[in-house]
Amino acid sequence: MNKHFGTLHVLKDIDLSVARGEVVVVIGPSGGGKSTLCRVINRLEAIDSGGITFDGQALPAEGKALAQLRSEVGMVFQSFNLFSHKTILENVTLGPIKVRGIARQQAEQRGLELLERVGIASQAAKYPAQLSGGQQQRVAIARALAMDPKMILFDEPTSALDPEMVQEVLDVMVGLASDGMTMLVVTHEMGFARRAADRVVFMADGQIVEESEPEAFFTQPKSDRARDFLSKIL
Ligand code: ADP
Ligand code: MG
Repeated sequence: MNKHFGTLHVLKDIDLSVARGEVVVVIGPSGGGKSTLCRVINRLEAIDSGGITFDGQALPAEGKALAQLRSEVGMVFQSFNLFSHKTILENVTLGPIKVRGIARQQAEQRGLELLERVGIASQAAKYPAQLSGGQQQRVAIARALAMDPKMILFDEPTSALDPEMVQEVLDVMVGLASDGMTMLVVTHEMGFARRAADRVVFMADGQIVEESEPEAFFTQPKSDRARDFLSKIL
């Protein structure tokens, strides 16, 4: 699969599959194409050549089928993107009510269960600005889960957080991983990769440079490029 932005070749012959229940961590230098990779998976960006299949089907280009696909792929970004004028519970129930047509009461019950799961049920009636960054990111995860996604994409979910809040978000993600959620996670958090990843994909300059098991990647990277990158972040 290939993707250009004008003359910039951002994704170069990317060949990547994520199996059901697998947790793949994508790591690599800034500008390497990691966010673009996340965005093409649910067609927030179109690709130029090649194809993407999801759950055995070619990715639809538009229309109802695309909306359906997007509702099955959760996304959690660096900036939490919560609706600031809606309560925490409303943030979590909006998708199920509007997109899935689920009855409010049922959506709220499930929303509260999900907020419980990410450890913030007691904040349900508050507004995003009243929560810490770590709490807001956990709401974003609950919101993604509320759509019963088949897969969740995480694009540097802890990069915007104060250091003391990183772990509470990673703990929720580790929990999801052990519950069998299919996850593609762009992160530089080694601890998370070691605890939860089935595979680490190292991406640089729009290419997949290497793929390894986490322990092997962190202790014995195969490429000079990865070795150099790791020496800078570790
Ligand atoms: P990463 O997430 O690994 O830092 P990105 O996928 O964000 O990398 O970006 C890869 C390259 O594509 C960068 O050079 C970036 O400037 C460029 N890029 C990203 N989005 C756009 C866009 N919408 N238009 C033009 N160039 C873009
Ligand atoms: Mg990025």
